[in-house]
Amino acid sequence: MNKAVYISPEDQASDDLAWMREALYMAEEALQNGEVPVGCVFVKNGQAIARARNRTNEWRNATLHAELEAIDHLLPYNPPPLSSITLYVTVEPCVMCASALRQVGIGRVVYGCGNDRFGGCGSVLDVSTSDMLDTNPAFEAVGGYLREEAIMLLRRFYMSENQNAPNPKKKATRVLKTDIPPPPSGTASAATSRSASAAPTPTPAPKFPLPIGGTLASTPRPLTPQ
Ligand SMILES: [Zn+2]
Repeated sequence: MNKAVYISPEDQASDDLAWMREALYMAEEALQNGEVPVGCVFVKNGQAIARARNRTNEWRNATLHAELEAIDHLLPYNPPPLSSITLYVTVEPCVMCASALRQVGIGRVVYGCGNDRFGGCGSVLDVSTSDMLDTNPAFEAVGGYLREEAIMLLRRFYMSENQNAPNPKKKATRVLKTDIPPPPSGTASAATSRSASAAPTPTPAPKFPLPIGGTLASTPRPLTPQ
């Protein structure tokens, strides 16, 4: 049963959307580098403390999801629990990443589109809230933020030939679909997320570039027009 929680666009806070835009920049960079386009940024006290994007193809390492790369970078400077930190990620964290996020005690997760195959924040398993886990308290996970943009990035990736696939299909036969179905029925929520009801003074829009680091750090660059 799909337990993912989606926030209606009219209930989404502007600062959450601004940070999700930064996560989309990272996802766009992943796409430009032949990776499944997933990007993320971790935010603490209105500042980005780490950001990353998927690098599984580059390093031939299936665990190098954006979230885990960022966690590797930020943990030395931010010992768990990360209860004061919010993760913005373009796709619902998978079961592996959701488990890692729970183990480091993440405070809140805001994502773009759901992950119907591997989602660990309600779409497949609710690692984020299940009381079967006793590692750390449940964390809030809400989706639907710039969801269409996140989906279109994924579609553009799967439209192109995957050079790493054993039998890449010809893209000439493919058509980029632009219709976006609504979130899974029965899961849409008009619930106001924590941030939407928080401080009256909005967080300034994040400036580019943002701090990153570590040996896997990428070069910040703005989103280029298509
Ligand atoms: Zn993951």
